[in-house]
Amino acid sequence: MKKLENVKPRVYKFGAKTADGNSKMKNLLGGKGANLAEMSALGIPVPPGFTITTEVCTEYNALGEKAVIELIKQEVEQSVLNLESLLGSGFGDKDNPLLVSVRSGARVSMPGMMDTVLNLGINDEVVQGLAKKTNNEQFAWDSYRRFIQMYGGVVLGMKPETKEDIDPFEEIMDTLKAERGITLDTDFTVQDLKDLVQDFKVAVKTQTGHDFPTNPWDQLWGAIIAVFNSWNTDRAVYYRNMNGFPAEWGTAVNVQAMVYGNMGNNSGTGVCFTRDSGTGENVFNGEYLINAQGEDVVAGTRTPQQITKLGSVRWAELAKVDEEERAKNYPSLEELMPSVFKELNTYQEILEKHYRDMQDLEFTIQDGKLWILQTRSGKRTGAAMVKIAIDLVKEGIITEKEALLSVEPNKLQELLHPIFDPKAIRNAKVIAHGLPASPGAASGQIVFFADEASKYNNSILVRIETSPEDLEGMNLAKGILTARGGMTSHAAVVARGMGKCCVSGAGALRIDYKKRKLIVDNKEYHEGDWISLNGSTGDIYEGEVATMEAKLSGEFAELMTLVDKYAVMKVRANADNPADAKTARDFGAQGIGLTRTEHMFFEADRIKAMREMILSDTEEGRKKALEKLLPMQRTDFEEVLEVMEGLSVTIRLLDPPFHEFVPHQLVTQKALAKQMGISLDDVKNKVADLEEFNPMLGHRGCRLGNTYPEITEMQTRAIIEAALNLKAKGVICKPEIMIPLIGTVKEFDMQNDIIRTTANKIFEERKDSIAYSVGTMIEIPRATLVADLIAEKADFFSFGTNDLTQMTFGYSRDDAGKFLPIYIEKGILEHDPFEILDQEGVGQLVKIGTERGRSVKPNLEVGICGEHGGEPSSVEFCYKTGMNYVSCSPYRVPIARLVSAQASIKDTL
Ligand code: ADP
Ligand code: MG
Ligand code: MG
Repeated sequence: MKKLENVKPRVYKFGAKTADGNSKMKNLLGGKGANLAEMSALGIPVPPGFTITTEVCTEYNALGEKAVIELIKQEVEQSVLNLESLLGSGFGDKDNPLLVSVRSGARVSMPGMMDTVLNLGINDEVVQGLAKKTNNEQFAWDSYRRFIQMYGGVVLGMKPETKEDIDPFEEIMDTLKAERGITLDTDFTVQDLKDLVQDFKVAVKTQTGHDFPTNPWDQLWGAIIAVFNSWNTDRAVYYRNMNGFPAEWGTAVNVQAMVYGNMGNNSGTGVCFTRDSGTGENVFNGEYLINAQGEDVVAGTRTPQQITKLGSVRWAELAKVDEEERAKNYPSLEELMPSVFKELNTYQEILEKHYRDMQDLEFTIQDGKLWILQTRSGKRTGAAMVKIAIDLVKEGIITEKEALLSVEPNKLQELLHPIFDPKAIRNAKVIAHGLPASPGAASGQIVFFADEASKYNNSILVRIETSPEDLEGMNLAKGILTARGGMTSHAAVVARGMGKCCVSGAGALRIDYKKRKLIVDNKEYHEGDWISLNGSTGDIYEGEVATMEAKLSGEFAELMTLVDKYAVMKVRANADNPADAKTARDFGAQGIGLTRTEHMFFEADRIKAMREMILSDTEEGRKKALEKLLPMQRTDFEEVLEVMEGLSVTIRLLDPPFHEFVPHQLVTQKALAKQMGISLDDVKNKVADLEEFNPMLGHRGCRLGNTYPEITEMQTRAIIEAALNLKAKGVICKPEIMIPLIGTVKEFDMQNDIIRTTANKIFEERKDSIAYSVGTMIEIPRATLVADLIAEKADFFSFGTNDLTQMTFGYSRDDAGKFLPIYIEKGILEHDPFEILDQEGVGQLVKIGTERGRSVKPNLEVGICGEHGGEPSSVEFCYKTGMNYVSCSPYRVPIARLVSAQASIKDTL
């Protein structure tokens, strides 16, 4: 055959210990194709085959079927010839047939891509030849019926569309099984299989209107084109868009000579992992089935057996199978085929060393001969990911930097929160889904009101939505479930801060507070009924499901030590109380970037004094109430500052609008009237007065402190006195006072003045002083633009990207739930900008603010304290912007630390 000169090949061959491609060519050959090539070249026994490149897929999309077949025809035919000569068989040959599999494979594994078709090239005549050649009619007809079934399903579109629909082929098989009184596919007789083939063909004709293709070449081209088409199915397009994968990537097509695991009891097929994908333990493990093909192992119709003896014994213990039965009915591959096992074990070692990562392998045994059909980096749990990374460093296989880069930051979440007992969750029933608002697992009894959360030892607070008043109850509950609200709803943000499991925005829930019941799908759940939540997936389960405390394993700590070696940008935490501060410190927080003082006001006694202050008409009245609050605040600050000894603690002055603090229920309004000695009407009027059309743009932030300076005075006093008290005890603390919601320099000046004057007064009173700084949140777009002017006066900047996002987009955080999900679905927005920092727009303001600030004060300390401070892509952005630190909820501290280290490492590559 004439070689094509000077033309980039469109087809790459592999097999017989050589290959045109290699594992670095994933973009061109897809992940599967590139690794098949690499394995061939390594001398691993891989059935020979060839890969049609991803670029051909793009050509197909541009040119269409006819033209693209023209383009690759010669190369494909040449490659099939090559297979025939390697194997001494012929494609479509009646006496000595070559059958192939057709496998899709994009550069990353993707749902929606076409399922593999096995045994392609078979027809009524070829099946006879196959039977004769192998002297195994059973095998030949089993292969034929499998082929029609797979080809019909994936190429001819006869797959059922929903789970409820019945697969026409399965239906035919089930009917025959029932007639014959058998249960397993392997129980079919040759005659049964022949009947099935016949019935399958009739089904194809009825459903598609065409005869089943008998010409092997028609079959092959049909399958190749079907793979290309699968790149553009709705599901694939959706997944691509979601992950930002461009349409030009395309998928490759792998055509590979068949090896047969269904040739009898000396054959089989299986999958294995070089390490434990659940725990990361360095033990080879996997499952196999005798006399089986393709995905039979995962299909679950027969119980798969374990590959190693150790795994087999462990399995028997869990399945409560005694040793005698295990050895007889479920022997491991190690026991059943010791030499095949030994060979497999050698390959898994070679492949793991070669790829320098845990591998997931597929293999088939044909009449005692082992073939490897796939290798790829194995999926793993967060715990396994960390353990494997650390172990591989210790084993000298990868470097520290590689180990750090190999851990997916968000996977660490699994290590930080309780999880469901894997055994218990298997039988649990999902009743609805919501947003995975705050990770972890929780199981408890339903309560509908925050103040009833302590009614049960384990309660799940179920609300339409939550409000600041629910804070204490949220803290007491094991988990929080809301029917409304997105990832940045009150429930979601607060729950993440607390490290509490939360599922929000579960639209299918109907909640009847009056009757105290929850209705899902016409089923009622009452107060006290058990439900369970998975805050990492958004799944809601019926009943109690056992949970386990996540263990911070040794490797996790080791990983964090490595992180500290490479991370430059610091990570602080958002913590409002000593408990959160402690958690944050335990997770390695290097300071507190945001203490919200208002959260402290919601607790029992304080809310009363707070309300008294708010409802007072006079400065005098306010001062009286503030005096009650002062000692409480001082103690709060003392406690937080003490926990964070030696580290910076940024305390934000009062920020939310007053309306959030006043009572809205009649009983509480009455109680307040009594407490303050005023009439109920007075209270009602005052509450009505405080109502604003747009509270987020209303009387809040520094606008409070500038209209009621006595509040800033009190808070400053509480902070400075707390620090002085600690100093007297020998505790070093570094308070940073942060002014919220600055838009103009004058706003800052005025607050700064009050703070400095108050502090100096206290220093004089006490004849002692401490160092403190005064800085500001940058969260109003205007502030980023005049950042140079502000920086002349401010000691530090902290970007409040929640408000900045809200005001830059003009999206109210509290109302965005109505349109954001639709915007994301329609592709108007790629992500929820409250979750993932919008680098294109809001990010520009962050950059401008930082640059202008540093233009007058080069060493200006800059950080971020919005929800974005713990989101990996946003944290990386902060590093690139040159921030000194990010601040996030305590439970995200390890994640942000890892990203910080990764960002530094990437910078040096
Ligand atoms: P997936 O992308 O879903 O992993 P694969 O292409 O790996 O799909 O194939 C599905 C199943 O078919 C796997 O079990 C694989 O090992 C098996 N298989 C694929 N090609 C062949 C072949 N040439 N011979 C035998 N089994 C094969
Ligand atoms: Mg596979
Ligand atoms: Mg704000």
